[in-house]
Amino acid sequence: MDPACSLCQVAITFHESLRNEEQTNLLQALKSVSNSDSRKHTCNLLDEICKSESPLQVPLCKDCATKICSDLRKRLLDLEEECLKYEKAYTDQQKKRKNLPYDAESIRRELQDVTMQEKELLEELTNLESEERRINNEIRELSRQASEVNDEGDALYRELRSNHRKLIECNEDTSSLKTEIAYMEEQIQNLRAVNVLDMTFCIGIHESYGTINGLRLGRLPHEAIEWNEINAAFGQVALLVQVLGEKVSATFSEYELDPRGNNSYIRRISGSKAIEYPLFGNGGWKPFGQLNLDHAIVGLIYCIMQVEGKLKELHKNKQQWVLKNEKK
Ligand SMILES: [Zn+2]
Repeated sequence: MDPACSLCQVAITFHESLRNEEQTNLLQALKSVSNSDSRKHTCNLLDEICKSESPLQVPLCKDCATKICSDLRKRLLDLEEECLKYEKAYTDQQKKRKNLPYDAESIRRELQDVTMQEKELLEELTNLESEERRINNEIRELSRQASEVNDEGDALYRELRSNHRKLIECNEDTSSLKTEIAYMEEQIQNLRAVNVLDMTFCIGIHESYGTINGLRLGRLPHEAIEWNEINAAFGQVALLVQVLGEKVSATFSEYELDPRGNNSYIRRISGSKAIEYPLFGNGGWKPFGQLNLDHAIVGLIYCIMQVEGKLKELHKNKQQWVLKNEKK
């Protein structure tokens, strides 16, 4: 069997002129090589072609051979072109070198400058490194301080919240106390509005009779009122006059009251002497004419007048005000 093309593996038919004995032996030998190691040919075909001593060592079909020749020719042209470029560049460099004046002194100075510059830069680098270390230390210190400040801030915030809570509680307490105070003030106002004397000594009129705490004081011809009731009413009046006198700090001159219910007395003082008149009646139905009782009634009226005088003196301005308003 004939060997195949090393590239496309198409079977190759050799020309008759190649089929002499020597070539046939060689072909036989190659055939076995080609079969066993065909991959080597494909892997490094160009090397094989270059190294071969006979075209039979690397057999190629006509098409592949033409293609390879064409590729190689193209590659050769490229390489020649590249070579020309390199040559041109090399020539240019040579020319430049020739034109460049060589001044050993200036180069030495330049070298010195560069060395000096290098030294300065190294010094600067050292300084910058030490500066960097210093700044890093500073950053660490500041971070530590910031952390401390944060902790302190947290603690203060906690305190603030606690204080805020306390403030709210205090406000609530204050509000509650204010409400309580307002209620108390209202109560005080209500209590102030209450006249104790009015409540204790309720003076009124009942069927033509003047009464004090429901006790009739006096009598009419058509109706007899018990002395007990009249006497008790006198006692109430005496007590009211005494209380009023104490309240307005009136000092009774000439007379002294001794209220004792339906058994009260009026004492007339003259110097060191005191005459006692009973402020209660008994016996007959005459309203006046009992001499001692008449004296006692006069004394009582005298005391009432003294209280009235004191009240007028105390409420002089108020009275004027009342009169002024009434005139309007
Ligand atoms: Zn081929």
